[in-house]
Amino acid sequence: ATPTSIMAGSGRAAEFGILFKGGEHLETTHHIDTVVVDKTGTVTYGKPKLTDVLMEEGMKESDFLAYIGAAERQSEHPLAEAIVDGIKERGITLLEVTSFEAIPGYGVKAVVNEQEVLVGTKKLMNQNNINIAAILKRMEELEGQGKTAMLASINGKFVGMIAVADTIKESSLQAIKRLKEMNIDVMMITGDNQLTATAIGKQAGIDQVIAEVLPEGKAAEIKKLQSSGKKVAMVGDGINDAPALAVADIGMAIGTGTDVAMEAADITLIRGDLNSIADAIIMSRKTMRNIK
Ligand code: ADP
Ligand code: MG
Repeated sequence: ATPTSIMAGSGRAAEFGILFKGGEHLETTHHIDTVVVDKTGTVTYGKPKLTDVLMEEGMKESDFLAYIGAAERQSEHPLAEAIVDGIKERGITLLEVTSFEAIPGYGVKAVVNEQEVLVGTKKLMNQNNINIAAILKRMEELEGQGKTAMLASINGKFVGMIAVADTIKESSLQAIKRLKEMNIDVMMITGDNQLTATAIGKQAGIDQVIAEVLPEGKAAEIKKLQSSGKKVAMVGDGINDAPALAVADIGMAIGTGTDVAMEAADITLIRGDLNSIADAIIMSRKTMRNIK
């Protein structure tokens, strides 16, 4: 590879909002055969909105949401932000919180009004022996629509469910189609549940979905693909994507995402548009062709 062709290639890529951290990445990108994309904030806009609120009988919606909002208030998760914003928009004043704990990949645990509140996944409820049998069907319906549904309990008793919806980026479907046409395997990876992930994957044209991956598990999934001989690009935006971005043959961070992701990656895609993935690979292929 001549330094001149690398420089020219990097310069051209930069004009398209594709920032290669070093010339060597412009070279390695050409042999990527598998692209793994994170769901939230990568395939989707990552701006979820509170859409559904369901309570057990005898519970007032405003009381229910005052507890949920309080429990979520100190969480830095994008889901928490969506929940708190949605509750505030409904004009509800949040209760006081005396203790808070984030449970990565599962949800939150807080003490509100001297009562223990849990908000999160089905697994979180099961681990705490909360009986959720009555809500499961309704939960699956919401997940089948691509929504993320979260369950809540107060003092060990199931009290209700909330759901948020995130929409896929306008460009995602077309961008994924281009990658497939280039004979690149596309997979989506997420901590979200299988039903929601499958529904979002379907909207984006991705049929290979790795769901319910705990925050520390994404890098392990990338390594698994690599050990089967794949040359893997990981594309993500979140703090929990950073280890996977570092482990991948090429890590691509979404420019609108977290600094941690950008630091771990080899390429930053300034435009949130997933078309930049195919563009980066094409530019790398062209650069390598000029070299040969
Ligand atoms: P993602 O990869 O989509 O960012 P995470 O691994 O962060 O997902 O979270 C996995 C799941 O854990 C979420 O889909 C949600 O059900 C639950 N969860 C995480 N954080 C929270 C929270 N603050 N409140 C409620 N549920 C949460
Ligand atoms: Mg994300």
